[in-house]
Amino acid sequence: MSTVKCVGILTSGGDAPGMNAAIRAVTRSAIYNGMRVKGIYRGYKGLILDEIEEFKTQNVSNIIQRGGTILKTARCVEFKTPEGRKQAYDKLQEHGIDALIAIGGDGTLTGARIFAQEFNFPIVGLPGTIDNDLYGTDTTIGYDTALNTIMECVDKIRDTATSHDRLFFVEVMGRDAGFLALNGAIASGAEAAIIPEISLEKDQLAEMIENGFRKSKNSSIVLVAESEVTGGAMGVAERVKKEYPQFDVRVSILGHLQRGGSPTAQDRILATRMGVAAIDALLDDQRNVMMGIQNDQIVYVPFSKAIKNDKPINRDLLNTLRVSSI
Ligand code: ADP
Repeated sequence: MSTVKCVGILTSGGDAPGMNAAIRAVTRSAIYNGMRVKGIYRGYKGLILDEIEEFKTQNVSNIIQRGGTILKTARCVEFKTPEGRKQAYDKLQEHGIDALIAIGGDGTLTGARIFAQEFNFPIVGLPGTIDNDLYGTDTTIGYDTALNTIMECVDKIRDTATSHDRLFFVEVMGRDAGFLALNGAIASGAEAAIIPEISLEKDQLAEMIENGFRKSKNSSIVLVAESEVTGGAMGVAERVKKEYPQFDVRVSILGHLQRGGSPTAQDRILATRMGVAAIDALLDDQRNVMMGIQNDQIVYVPFSKAIKNDKPINRDLLNTLRVSSI
């Protein structure tokens, strides 16, 4: 049986829709199980700067439908130093916090892992990132909402692309992962996706054009994952202008649009399940694990696995996109 009496909760790194649903679930589940809860504002930065508040169930009322994070988020360079982490540890001690729930992406969980080892401190992580780039979980909190946002944007861009017979390159986020670009392309009926996982293997642009990807259509939309490896939408468009000048090319970079908005039902449910499971994990004396979901079952993924491994894309999806876009 766990000895945790007071749990701290923070969100860190890039915000993602569904983080609020996770904060709500963690808070309510902790209180339900007789623990106290402290909300830590602005991630590791707020921990060091003592931006900490006792949370009751009312603190998390009416937030499940809101994007962003009520706890705010920040990037914190001090936490990357042993001195900064010691300050953070002292604050946790001062506030009587004996376990931490950290919601964020790869960076947040890397920091959590180092801190947990350094101070033998129990931390449970929740994968909160629109990029879906954490290993050991089929999906991450915020990914489904971002995917839906991309789909809606591409639907709108298609109206213009079709009216003008244009070739559009739409850049989407992903931080070196092609999940949003590839599934966004399938969901929006785009003609192709250029993703970093494949960029090193072959020239996706040349292949698309050589295959006559535009033969049966007046307009085309190609989703490009932002990444140095793909060159981003601007890089790809520049190439087309030089190498295939017959195309009327346009670029649209969706940018921060993709992060915001009310979370989808899927993200709210995922965040709530993971939030409740995170407290169960602490009660079960689990520590230094990330909550994951595999085949609709909650699983515990050791930080070392979640962070260190590159999550592979499902290559069947490449064929699905190819076949469905002829
Ligand atoms: P994300 O969690 O979305 O990947 P970041 O990469 O910006 O976002 O990381 C969020 C925060 O996590 C950083 O500002 C820093 O405080 C902490 N962090 C990231 N990497 C490390 C590290 N190697 N050591 C300690 N803390 C880290």
